[in-house]
Amino acid sequence: MSHEHRGHGPHKVGHVKEVTSLANPIIKDIKALTNKKSREESGTFMAEGLKLVIDAIELGWTIRTLVYAKAAKGKPLVEQMAARTVASGGLVLEVSEKVISSITRRDNPQMVVGIFESRWKPLREIHPKQGETWIALDRVRDPGNLGTIIRTADAAGASGVILVGETTDPFSLETVRATMGSVFAVPVARATPEEFISWKKHAGVSVVATHLTGSVDYRTIDYKKRPVVILMGNEQSGLPEHLAKEADALARIPQQGRADSLNLAVASAVMLFEARRHLLSLDEAK
Ligand code: SAM
Repeated sequence: MSHEHRGHGPHKVGHVKEVTSLANPIIKDIKALTNKKSREESGTFMAEGLKLVIDAIELGWTIRTLVYAKAAKGKPLVEQMAARTVASGGLVLEVSEKVISSITRRDNPQMVVGIFESRWKPLREIHPKQGETWIALDRVRDPGNLGTIIRTADAAGASGVILVGETTDPFSLETVRATMGSVFAVPVARATPEEFISWKKHAGVSVVATHLTGSVDYRTIDYKKRPVVILMGNEQSGLPEHLAKEADALARIPQQGRADSLNLAVASAVMLFEARRHLLSLDEAK
């Protein structure tokens, strides 16, 4: 995808480009953002819906392009976002419903779409403090799981998410949808397993890995002594030995019934809220 969006000359507030053709090259570039390669090359991604666009702009994310359907024209919040986009050097496109459906690949599309600059938290800048909880995910594959975990980390007051190894992209349309906007609120870092292990050795954290054969009941872990990094295994194969052996504790969520394991996002939620429960009682004791 080209970086031309910023180079369309100075935009006055109120300057809007109208597009009705699917063959328009800017629309083609935006549609290409469904591919990971295009997202990586352009350093941008797409978020659908006015609420997400407002959240992102309020949280300081850089918008490159705001796209809205003709039907949304004149709505005060849409106009405000358009003015903010232009003021920060971005482009505003007013498009037909056909164009916005094709961008989002939906029959009933959102009326507003934003193209934002991607943002990764560098691992070396993560210095967890007492009382913080982070969650690290080993080779997470499913975009719905990743989005749900980012959303849950946000809701549980966790400090951020670390993606370890080859994972699904947090900036894919499907993941962003599943985060319900939390992708803009929760820092996301990425690391190779080696980088993660070497970071862990210096970060002063306690890594609590979850494992179906873990020796410790997850409720008995001390989540308060040091900042905790909860480490979750891959959906299919679980946590590999080279990561499991680096953990300070291998925690198990005791189960009943016939299910072998919990879904990754569900297990993550159980862990994140257990950590929160321990930390909240610490606050209350103060
Ligand atoms: N077949 C995989 C295995 O053998 O580990 C199942 C992986 S499970 C779907 C995905 C991840 O969720 C696991 O690697 C673990 O981190 C976590 N998990 C799921 N159920 C768990 C449980 N009862 N106790 C601890 N961790 C669990």
